[in-house]
Amino acid sequence: MTTDYTPMWQELGLDLAGHEALLNVLGTAYTDIYLSQKNRPEGMGYFDFVMSEVHGLRIKELMDEKAAGRKIIGSYCVFVPEEIVLAANATLVGLCSGADFAMEKVEQLLPRNTCALIKSSFGFKIGKVCPYLESADMIVGENTCDGKKKAYETLGTLVDNLYVMDLPQTKTDQTRDLLKAEYMKFKTAVEELTGITVTAESLKSAIDVVNAKRAAIHRLSALRKADPAPISGLDALLANQVFFYDNPARFTESVNKICDELETRIQEKTGAFPAGAPRILVSGCPQAVPNWKLHMIVETAGAVIVGEESCVGERGTRNLTADTGTTVDEMMDAIVDRYFQVDCAIFTPNPQRLDHIQEMVTAYNAQGVIHYGLQFCQPYLMESIPVEKALEEKNIPCLRVETDYGMEDAGQLKTRVEAFIEQLR
Ligand code: SF4
Ligand code: SF4
Repeated sequence: MTTDYTPMWQELGLDLAGHEALLNVLGTAYTDIYLSQKNRPEGMGYFDFVMSEVHGLRIKELMDEKAAGRKIIGSYCVFVPEEIVLAANATLVGLCSGADFAMEKVEQLLPRNTCALIKSSFGFKIGKVCPYLESADMIVGENTCDGKKKAYETLGTLVDNLYVMDLPQTKTDQTRDLLKAEYMKFKTAVEELTGITVTAESLKSAIDVVNAKRAAIHRLSALRKADPAPISGLDALLANQVFFYDNPARFTESVNKICDELETRIQEKTGAFPAGAPRILVSGCPQAVPNWKLHMIVETAGAVIVGEESCVGERGTRNLTADTGTTVDEMMDAIVDRYFQVDCAIFTPNPQRLDHIQEMVTAYNAQGVIHYGLQFCQPYLMESIPVEKALEEKNIPCLRVETDYGMEDAGQLKTRVEAFIEQLR
């Protein structure tokens, strides 16, 4: 018997009709894109369940946590340190920004030429369809790209619990100090919200929990190096997306279980795609749930995506936080050092990202790179040109795509992607 979550959604103040419409679209897309895939690992059943309960059971868990006095913090960026949140006995969830919603109303508040990710975050708020957003006791905005930092000024008029974190845009000793000061301020704000002081013990344990989650994803990524690829890019992308809102310990356990299965599949040479299928690395803007568009187009055209150089992917998860500190201050330094390595395109200059893309091409045995840029995203679209140049110098084919969340350009994208795959063959 399925549980009726309507009273919970009502209590959260969701617009029930709009929410139902969203869930219907999401359910149909999931069935068409995910459940139609062939040769999936059985362990993906866990993620099918998570997705079927994404606004149900997981929200119920969060509501139970709240009833027990725990706070929920929502974030839009991988620069918000989960370690600090967990150490103050709160839960961090990524906020939905992967689908268009209430666009007409959004465009009354934001210019039309704003990236789909920012517009989506507004659409979910204005349309009152995101239970994660509505259950959050604090919403963290971060001053990253210009679009986001100006949009948060307006978001602050729509919600009463926005906390804005400043972030550096260059990497020097001074800007590292700025990041540390911002993280210390954030720690204080979270402590005030929860009424719980972060201790060396709680921070150490939080570092371990988040590192374990990242290590599980590292294990999954490493298995994608095999040919035939034991898991599709779509399925691996989903694991990277669920990373942001599942219970951390359960997520780690589930990903490790899938990895056990993938190891067997590799030994038996069972692939999600045939051996020798063209292998592609995707690099660029983050693909938040339920943005599966590019992966779907590439994989239905017969190539397999073997890695994502993205914040929903290796850019977001690749570094662990050193766990050698013994005091809160030493551990806060380790956290700062860890996050300071994230090579988002908002940094200038950002040569580390170019190097990382090339390292990933080699590590995952990719034959080409698709640079994924959201329309109107200046940082990533600007950086896509040096990325392409650096790859060309190494004779690595690169296709730059610029798109949004709509399906109007799907046909044209498909044609370009198919031609690119032919080039790789
Ligand atoms: S791309 Fe930059 S702004 Fe976006 S989530 Fe990643 S680090 Fe944050
Ligand atoms: S996709 Fe680009 S423009 Fe949009 S929020 Fe991210 S960095 Fe900013």
